[in-house]
Amino acid sequence: MLESVIAEFRQALGEQHTLTDGTSLERYRWCTIPIERNIAGVLRPASVEEIVQVLQIANAHQLRLYPISTGNNWGYGSAQPVQHDNIILDLSRMNRILEVNTDLAYAVVEPGVTQRTLYEHLQEHRIPLSLNPTGAGPNCSILGNTLERGFGIGPNGDHFLAQCGMEVVLATGEILRTGFGHYAGAKATYVYKWGVGPYLDGLFTQSNYGIVTKMGVWLMPIPEHFEACYLICNSEEQLGPLIDGMRQLLFSGVFQGPINLMHRNRLLLMRQRYPWEEMSGRTPLQESVAARLAIQKNIGTWNGVGAICGSKTQVRAAKQRIRQMFRGKVDRVSFLSDTKLQLLQRYPNIFGLLLKMNIPDMLKMLQASYGVLKGIPTEVALSLAYWRNRRTPLPASEVNPARDKCGLMWFSPVIPMTSEHVFAFRRIIEPIFTKYGFESCITFTAVNQRCLDCTLPILYDRDAASEVQKAQECHLELLRTCKQHGYIPYRLGLQSMEQETTRDDVFWSVVQKIKLALDPKGILAPGRYAG
Ligand code: ADP
Repeated sequence: MLESVIAEFRQALGEQHTLTDGTSLERYRWCTIPIERNIAGVLRPASVEEIVQVLQIANAHQLRLYPISTGNNWGYGSAQPVQHDNIILDLSRMNRILEVNTDLAYAVVEPGVTQRTLYEHLQEHRIPLSLNPTGAGPNCSILGNTLERGFGIGPNGDHFLAQCGMEVVLATGEILRTGFGHYAGAKATYVYKWGVGPYLDGLFTQSNYGIVTKMGVWLMPIPEHFEACYLICNSEEQLGPLIDGMRQLLFSGVFQGPINLMHRNRLLLMRQRYPWEEMSGRTPLQESVAARLAIQKNIGTWNGVGAICGSKTQVRAAKQRIRQMFRGKVDRVSFLSDTKLQLLQRYPNIFGLLLKMNIPDMLKMLQASYGVLKGIPTEVALSLAYWRNRRTPLPASEVNPARDKCGLMWFSPVIPMTSEHVFAFRRIIEPIFTKYGFESCITFTAVNQRCLDCTLPILYDRDAASEVQKAQECHLELLRTCKQHGYIPYRLGLQSMEQETTRDDVFWSVVQKIKLALDPKGILAPGRYAG
């Protein structure tokens, strides 16, 4: 960047919020995908007015800006822009919770509001509402994840469905308010998603059309009673009936939010590192070793978890219905409530003897999944990124897989929720993982009654050049092959943005036309979901 332009940014934002030196930019390059972009600088505005000033300067000098909220986006590209030489617009200083409405169960947040900030705010003010965290950890932005159309596993699982009302600064510096928000004094901006006229909010998710500076998010009133339901199958044959039973229970409203169904490997690698010694350095993990480790840790072949809540009577009826549905079809159906959890914590030795289990170890996992379902953000799912990392001990505070040079790339296709599709899909992906020497570690999340969002991590050792290359090839082959079979990812990583958004498809050419209309100079996040 020219010194004169830097001086203009400094004038607008102050010296300490205009970063150009190598050391300050370092953390914006941390990434679990083996890609490094040249970053021209980082700007840290604190308000909409400062963003508008930044845009005036960017327009005058034809500069490219890449907005991020907290910039974690683990396994999809972290804070890195899609193209070289962008200036990162880090919005994490805009971190106010502008409103919480207890009766109508919503909050209005700025980009820098993290899962932790909102959770702590609700706790501190004893507000009887809960959020729906993702597994990405307490330090991730609520708004950032919603813009990527991420999901959690508690009620209101699909984050974009729970979004209502946005404020967006366009590349021209104009300020757009969606839904009813553009009418002075509108009363229903945060309670009615659609407004009047064309629905625009979706345009600002998975796109590069604007800088989102404010968003309404729906929260969950704390129910009278809550329990987590755990479903365990010890054989592959049970997966079909489990999937079909889950779908029926979701359609009949027995579960209030998504059900998360995890393969044994997925739970295993959240609880330990790759056993390099035992495997004499070979990959992937041998089936017999995986099976033995899973038995030691009481992990089933398939492990489901979902929330049931309501009045005590409703929860009792839901439990009965779940038991009926899965009788003789799965190996274990169990329920965890606050009271049961307290008992386990208080008498670990008695329960350990009775259940022949390592209770403290089991509690760690139970508390984490139970907590996430109840709206408590945790770092527990993030530990999977360290599976093949040979050098870094898990940090005592603030897990950051990108800083710790973990190798993680997500591949997240969506499949219809029937056992036929699940089996067809597994027949495609599992040989690809084996071919490249990686474990397939599936989680299926039933984000609605009809589909499963499948999150598949490719976990590799970033220090081993051959593994890095295999991981990239594996990702590419998964994407190509699944596309050929009609299973398309719901979200793209940095490495796939441009190759997947080709102009010879009418869909992507319309996306381009909208971009030209809203951002004719191509200032915002070039290449992001737009070719
Ligand atoms: P998180 O840290 O919660 O994972 P990020 O801040 O990394 O979320 O956001 C994910 C992606 O969404 C970013 O790479 C960026 O492209 C886009 N994004 C995030 N925040 C904004 C925003 N306020 N306006 C426009 N795009 C954004």
